[in-house]
Amino acid sequence: MSPRPNSLAARDAAFHLHGYTNAQKNEQEGGFVITRGKGIYVYDENGKEYLDGMAALWCSGLGFGEEPRLTQAAVKQMQELPFYHTFTQKVASVTVELAEKLVNLAPVPMSKAYFCNSGSEANDTVVKMIWYINNGLGRPQKKKIISRTKAYHGVTVAAASLTGLPGLHIDFDLPIAGILRTDCPHHYRFGNPGESEEDFATRCAESLEKLILREGPDTIAAMFAEPVMGAGGVIIPPKTYFAKIQAVLKKYDILLVADEVICGFGRTGNFWGSQTMGVTPDIMTMAKQLSAGVLPIAAVLVNQRVYEALRDNSAKNTVFGHGITYSGHPVCAAVALETLKIYEERKIVDRVRALEPVFLRELQRFREHPLVGECRGVGLVGAIELVKDKATRQSFDASLAVGPNLVRIAHNHGLIIRAVGDSLAFCPPMVISEAEVVDMFVRFEKSLADVAEWLK
Ligand code: PLP
Repeated sequence: MSPRPNSLAARDAAFHLHGYTNAQKNEQEGGFVITRGKGIYVYDENGKEYLDGMAALWCSGLGFGEEPRLTQAAVKQMQELPFYHTFTQKVASVTVELAEKLVNLAPVPMSKAYFCNSGSEANDTVVKMIWYINNGLGRPQKKKIISRTKAYHGVTVAAASLTGLPGLHIDFDLPIAGILRTDCPHHYRFGNPGESEEDFATRCAESLEKLILREGPDTIAAMFAEPVMGAGGVIIPPKTYFAKIQAVLKKYDILLVADEVICGFGRTGNFWGSQTMGVTPDIMTMAKQLSAGVLPIAAVLVNQRVYEALRDNSAKNTVFGHGITYSGHPVCAAVALETLKIYEERKIVDRVRALEPVFLRELQRFREHPLVGECRGVGLVGAIELVKDKATRQSFDASLAVGPNLVRIAHNHGLIIRAVGDSLAFCPPMVISEAEVVDMFVRFEKSLADVAEWLK
């Protein structure tokens, strides 16, 4: 249906090019315009209310517009020093404070923080750091980077190459050279019939080792992994997966980069996803809930070994030839610092842990539904995977777009969720209440019933 003339949706169609959108469809239908938010709800231009079951893009951990302290922190910083940069040893005082805070919060000893504006930029920066240090260390052949099928690490050139989703490569001439792909640790989809999760994890580690030996350990620098894969469909690896994978990486002196862009800041029931999944990274990237999604800021943490290699090469070259104008932007840094204070004061990790049983109970309620293949979740992030045939796990024909259709139908029931293929993801603001968790799944239940009817 074409949008009402002169509505915001029509103006969006006329003037705005969206990311991750079929541009032709948007031209015909107009955008889904959100005008305001309150708590865990957002409102469209007609005033209709939606429970945002995705915290926007996995980021609005404190909900929408309910936190005056973040506004005050931004205003105060804008009055004191609205902008300064981090080139040539300069830095705003608040940026120093945030760097110190993040290094101190890290789940394993980290040495330094580097700031970016987005998760993609952070991951691209890490790729450059890895290449840079290995040149500096006199091993220019050790440059290849491993990531996993279905991984999501962003959209910039290197980050999109690390991303293991074909839709991000097609017609972009990606991935770049030197990116290797290893298995996605999704037991439900990739486990052999009768194979235990433990055996599947062992097979993933063996397959990783085979890849490393085939390529040559001396040519591989690092592996990127999210502790729990988010945008790939909320994939929670088997319990022993990371221990097994890390033993292989250690054996061949391959760095592990934990992408905490979604998992960080309480989402999985610990402050870091790395703690939940037993990951001991050499490098970490983070964004999104670092500022509760309120302002764009991302960070890279590097350990002492990585830092020293970078430091020594920057001294040799007279400069680390990488920098972004808005790296460590003081207003974003001030809001991030205040966000971290709020997480501490509100005991956000305890809150997620307390809600987890309710969230998982409600999620698992759909296990017996004839269209549901798997319900998976941890902390306050989860997914329900729909299948055509429960017994064989056969997926629906992609042309039916069952997942995206459910997302559209959910709008009628005042619910925003996200489809990754036919997996429906849930990642509500961490300030959601128990009653609201229940309500979110009631809205989903109605949407699923409509889809079941449509499929008849
Ligand atoms: N890494 C992960 C795990 C993500 O989920 C995302 C975004 O969803 C990114 C990186 C990229 O972050 P951004 O969209 O801020 O560039």
